[in-house]
Amino acid sequence: MQELAHFIDGQHAKGTSGRFADIFNPATGEVQAKVPLASKAELDAAVASAAAAQPAWAATNPQRRARVLMEFVRLLNRDMDKLAEALSREHGKTLPDAAGDVQRGLEVVEFCIGAPHLLKGEYTDSAGPGIDMYSMRQALGVVAGITPFNFPAMIPMWKFAPAIACGNAFILKPSERDPSVPIMLAELMKEAGLPDGILQVVNGDKEAVDAILDNPTIQGIGFVGSTPIAEYIYSRGCANGKRVQCFGGAKNHMIVMPDADMDQAADALVGAGYGAAGERCMAISVAVPVGDATADKLIEKLVPRIEALKVGPYTSGKDVDYGPLVTAAAKERVLGLVNSGVEQGADLVVDGRGFNLQGYEDGFFVGPHLFDRVTRDMDIYKEEIFGPVLSTVRAQSYEEALGYAMDHEYGNGTAIFTRDGDAARDFANRINIGMVGINVPIPVPLAYHTFGGWKKSGFGDLNQHGPDAFKFYTRTKTVTARWPSGIKEGGEFSIPVME
Ligand code: NAD
Repeated sequence: MQELAHFIDGQHAKGTSGRFADIFNPATGEVQAKVPLASKAELDAAVASAAAAQPAWAATNPQRRARVLMEFVRLLNRDMDKLAEALSREHGKTLPDAAGDVQRGLEVVEFCIGAPHLLKGEYTDSAGPGIDMYSMRQALGVVAGITPFNFPAMIPMWKFAPAIACGNAFILKPSERDPSVPIMLAELMKEAGLPDGILQVVNGDKEAVDAILDNPTIQGIGFVGSTPIAEYIYSRGCANGKRVQCFGGAKNHMIVMPDADMDQAADALVGAGYGAAGERCMAISVAVPVGDATADKLIEKLVPRIEALKVGPYTSGKDVDYGPLVTAAAKERVLGLVNSGVEQGADLVVDGRGFNLQGYEDGFFVGPHLFDRVTRDMDIYKEEIFGPVLSTVRAQSYEEALGYAMDHEYGNGTAIFTRDGDAARDFANRINIGMVGINVPIPVPLAYHTFGGWKKSGFGDLNQHGPDAFKFYTRTKTVTARWPSGIKEGGEFSIPVME
């Protein structure tokens, strides 16, 4: 049985806590490796050596820091196939989707190569007689990232690339379900020239997370995962005086207007609803057709597309549309919610409950499901399912459809499909959700914009990646400097004001 390690001070470090988590092959259900779960003492030691390494890294000029990231991008491209395979093996997503996971992280690294420009401060010459004023952005020191299982390459890179570009040292606590790729990323950062101690991968569970939350050296925490954990980390981290940003779960609605191109809408829904087995925080999980005629047409277009979906292991090649869920518990939870939908009166138009894949009977595969006539009070509507289950809620008007998306507690992403620019514009302006697609089902912003949800999908002031990340991972210091002879004239006792 392969035993994974932490990555501390530039090398693999065997876990010493004696506690481990199983890593499954989601396609077969077999345990393929075990990962050590760090104790508080292991976490604290990793933080202490990161703190020792950080000042020299912060003092390295930003262009040299950016060059490490430039080389890292080259290495990511060199190892793309290897990374994608390792990712699929533990997560279960298809190889093209796994390569996309690496690619969307890589693009944020590319953006961070602009650190010398992004970190330039502001300067006011002659703010007063003989007085200059300037602000600088300084690294926080040691910061940490706690990341989810569903994007084991992209989200760690969204966190550590800007943090390290800004001159911080970074403690990464990846998901214990699929930690191999995060460790490989740390190895590549070292190969790219990153000094030891600046990127530490500490594997673990709640014990390691709590140690991060309570460690007084850690100045900032970025979290991505489910909303209950996001709320916990946000409140405890803030109470401990840290800068914290947490991104949580989602329930993304796609409104389909009567004038939409129905084939385009159906294609978009199938990709956005079932891609990665629905294990995406930007997956569309609720379709809201406006009007019964629209709903009937949409369902008619969706059913054959959903029934044609190919579900299988990533090893079956590029023909597979989606793979297994990540664990047996995830599969059980999703099927439990599907049963609750049936019991609570929703219309199960495509029933994937009997799905079975020959040779992979013990894998965590779940067939695709489509519900119609879902209502607000049902658990399948209220909860994030995080599986291949699309719910249809019928609205009788645009205002009613808008209300569904606005009233839901989550506010990560949403989309509208229409040919009417006026409706699209109204939707984009009024909706209380962080990322909006207009005839685009999964509107994940590119690296140079920022990513973040509203309501129960995001906690904290700033978004992930883009310019916000450079604000989150630095503190502003403002200096007022005077070099003339005026000081000789004696002290000033009233607050200086501009005349
Ligand atoms: P999760 O909340 O179970 O785990 C996330 C991280 O928190 C992991 O590193 C895990 O080890 C840690 N953790 C789990 N339980 C903990 C506890 N009790 N105390 C302290 N730490 C704990 O989430 P997941 O299942 O890995 O990921 C799926 C979730 O992430 C979904 O809800 C999805 O919507 C969300 N997600 C959100 C975004 C976003 O940007 N908003 C992106 C990706 C995923």
